[in-house]
Amino acid sequence: MHEKNFLVFGAPQIEEDEIAEVIASMRSGWLGTGPKVARFEADFAAYKGIPFTAAVNSCTAALHLSILAAGLGRGDEVITTALTFCATINAIIHSGATPVLADVDPHTMNIDPEDIERRITPQTRAIVPVHFAGRPCDMNLIMKIAARHRLKVIEDCAHAIETEYQGRKAGTFGDFGCFSFYVTKNIVTGEGGMVVARESDDIARVKTLALHGLSQDAWSRFRDAEYTHYFVTECGFKYNMMDIQAAMGIHQLKRIEKCWRRREAIWQQYNQAFNTLPITIPESIAPHTRHAYHLYTILLDAQKTDMSRDDFLRAMTAANIGVGVHYFSIPEHPYYQETYGWRPEDYPHAMQIGRQTVSLPISPKLTDEDVNNVIQAVTHLIIQ
Ligand SMILES: *Cc1c(COP(=O)(O)O)cnc(C)c1O
Repeated sequence: MHEKNFLVFGAPQIEEDEIAEVIASMRSGWLGTGPKVARFEADFAAYKGIPFTAAVNSCTAALHLSILAAGLGRGDEVITTALTFCATINAIIHSGATPVLADVDPHTMNIDPEDIERRITPQTRAIVPVHFAGRPCDMNLIMKIAARHRLKVIEDCAHAIETEYQGRKAGTFGDFGCFSFYVTKNIVTGEGGMVVARESDDIARVKTLALHGLSQDAWSRFRDAEYTHYFVTECGFKYNMMDIQAAMGIHQLKRIEKCWRRREAIWQQYNQAFNTLPITIPESIAPHTRHAYHLYTILLDAQKTDMSRDDFLRAMTAANIGVGVHYFSIPEHPYYQETYGWRPEDYPHAMQIGRQTVSLPISPKLTDEDVNNVIQAVTHLIIQ
């Protein structure tokens, strides 16, 4: 255990409203999928301005079901970024499809549309862009490539709840958008996720797959007063969200703008404090976009700072500040090397970022004093 004044990376901000709502769920006895899940789905749909949503128990589940509902499987190739969390890749593998990596743009850290084009083969069926750190991918170019090659698009929006691109919300460009409410994400339900889809048939399929493959009316089984039979229409999964989780999500979603403004303020304080240091700070926000400020990542070049990334991680932790690494590039992991023969050097930008990156705390829970402590620790370590 860390000592008491350790600043935990990605600590969630939990307030009285969601605590009371969780307790109300428990007192009602309705713990599983029920009215609060339905309300959270409706609230999220209203927030995104798209009618079709399905709450599930993680973004990993959301990705898995979206890939299946998109009709992808054995023999199909799915192109995604080399700089992401392993769940993006694993969800593709679990569907039976073959993941294909594209490198990232070294500045935006998002998938490089030109490299997507280079990786397309006759077997390519879909693209899974990840809006890295909350910065939108170049969706104009990606949707053009998808249209030209008749590819499905499944957006990994785990970092991108508040993200917008040219006035349109992340998750509403592709056939599916997948969101995470894991403890460190911008909305927190402990574990949790959401699928948004453009077509009602697609969300119906996701809902069936999320609950054992039961016919869609099985969901209303939770609401109906009278007894109804259920029937299995395909072999599904157990990925549904509970009312206890939705109880948190409903109130977290209500506060999303307030938390976003706090994240933005911290982001700007960091930018101001660090822009004269010999480190790389995040690329400036692209015009006509909204960044979700999920991660604030700096790059450390050992030649400029006299300090390796890993020494910096250790020193920050020793200074009681929790830091993260998002992420070692996917080809750095032994499983993918052994299974797909991927080598980090073949995705040089993702490799370089993965070896140099450090994520600093940017939770709305941070006090002004916390932010100052982070700034002082970074400045002290880099300048000494
Ligand atoms: C967190 C994360 C996921 C997985 O989300 P879970 O809700 O934990 O399953 C997927 N992709 C990215 C990019 C993530 O950061």
